[in-house]
Amino acid sequence: MNTKDKGFNTKLIHAGAFDDEFGSATVPIYQTSTFKFKSARHGADCFSGKSDGYIYTRIANPTIRAFEQNIAALENGYDGIATSSGMAAITSVYMALLGAGSHIVSSDAVYGPARGVLEQDFSRFNVEATFVNTANTENILKAIKPNTKVLYVETPANPTMEITDLKACAKIAREKGLLLVVDNTFSSPYLQKPLDMGADVVLHSITKFINGHADIVGGVIVTKDPELYKKIRHSMVYMGCNMDPTQAFMVLRGVKTLALRIERAQQNAQKIATYLQNHPMVAWIKYPGLPSHPQYELAKTQMDGFGSMMSFGLKGGYEAGRKLMDNVHLAILAVSLGGVETLIQHPASMTHAGVSHEHKQAAGITDDLVRFSVGIEDAEDIIADLEQAFTKLD
Ligand SMILES: *Cc1c(COP(=O)(O)O)cnc(C)c1O
Repeated sequence: MNTKDKGFNTKLIHAGAFDDEFGSATVPIYQTSTFKFKSARHGADCFSGKSDGYIYTRIANPTIRAFEQNIAALENGYDGIATSSGMAAITSVYMALLGAGSHIVSSDAVYGPARGVLEQDFSRFNVEATFVNTANTENILKAIKPNTKVLYVETPANPTMEITDLKACAKIAREKGLLLVVDNTFSSPYLQKPLDMGADVVLHSITKFINGHADIVGGVIVTKDPELYKKIRHSMVYMGCNMDPTQAFMVLRGVKTLALRIERAQQNAQKIATYLQNHPMVAWIKYPGLPSHPQYELAKTQMDGFGSMMSFGLKGGYEAGRKLMDNVHLAILAVSLGGVETLIQHPASMTHAGVSHEHKQAAGITDDLVRFSVGIEDAEDIIADLEQAFTKLD
C-alpha cells in the first residue's frame, strides 16, 4: 500500500506491507537463505541490477524489506537498511563514512560501545574521534578539524538526557561539509524526525522503542539521499550485518503499537518524574518533560513529546542508588530500555562500564546516576514500587 500521503499511525500499520499470492494479511516470515532464479539469464539480471529479484538473504529478503520500507516511511527517508543489532547499524555507518585519516566528532554521552568501538577498534585503522558535549554547539565548532567527515549526535543522550539542537547541528554540518548522523533510539520517529531537521542519516537500536517488547535485538539505518543509501547498504551487506527474517517479522509486529506504547509510557513518565522531583531522598532528576531540565524549551520545540527515559541521583549517592535497585520488585533491574516493562539500571557500572572513569566524569555519567526506562504498567504501581524501595534506604 502506498502510504506516502497518509498519517503516522496509518504508516505504522501499513507502510512496507505487500500483497502475496496467498492474500496474507500480515507480512509472512520468508525464512529462506537463498532464492530461485527463473533462468540463468534472470540470475545474471538480478546480479547486474537489471532485475530487482531477490538473490540471497544477506543482501535482501522480503520480510526484511517490508520492515526497511516501514521505518523509512516513519522517518520520512528514502529507504531503510535493517541490521542484526543497533551496534551493527552504527558500525556499518562508521565503516561507510569513515576511512584512514578521517575524523569524527561525536556526543560524549553516546551509547558506550558506539564510543568504545571508535576508541578501541577504528583507532587501529587510523580513524580519529573527538567526543564533546554536543548540547553546547560551540563545543562542536571547536572540535571540527580539516579531516572531519561526520558529526554524530545522540539526543536525548544516553544516559545523561542532555538534548542537542538538531537544526543547529544540521546547519554546522552543511557549512563545514560534514554528514550529520543521528542516533534516534531514545525518541523513535514518533517523537523526533531528524531527517526532517536536516540530518543525513538516522539510525536506531530497534531493540528498544521500535520493537518495544524486549524480545529481539536489531538495528536500522535510514538515509535521505539514494547515493548515501547505496554506500551504507554496501557496508552492511559486505560486513554481513544483516537482520534475520524472523527478527524482521517480530519488529514489524512490535512497531505497529509504537504510538500507543509511547503515549502511554510518557504519560507514566511525567507522573513518575514529578514524584521523584518532589521526593526528599532524590538529589537531582533529569527528564526533558520537567521545566527543571536545562533544555526543556528546546525539547518542547524539537520533540513531539518528552518520552519515557529519565535519570536521577539520590542524596545518598551510589550506595543509596544500589539499595534502591536491589529493592524494587516491579521495575526490572536490567539494561536496555524502551520496552513495555519498566527497567532500572546503573550506567556507570553497567552500560557505560567500558568508558573510562575520566571520560564518564567529563560526560556527566556520575556514579550516583540511576537510569529509569518507564514502561506501560499503571503509573501508581510503579510509584508504589519506588516508594516501598525508598523506605528500605534509611
Ligand atoms: C542499545 C543502544 C544501542 C545499541 O543497540 P544494540 O541493539 O544493543 O546493538 C545504540 N544506541 C543507543 C542509544 C542504545 O540505547
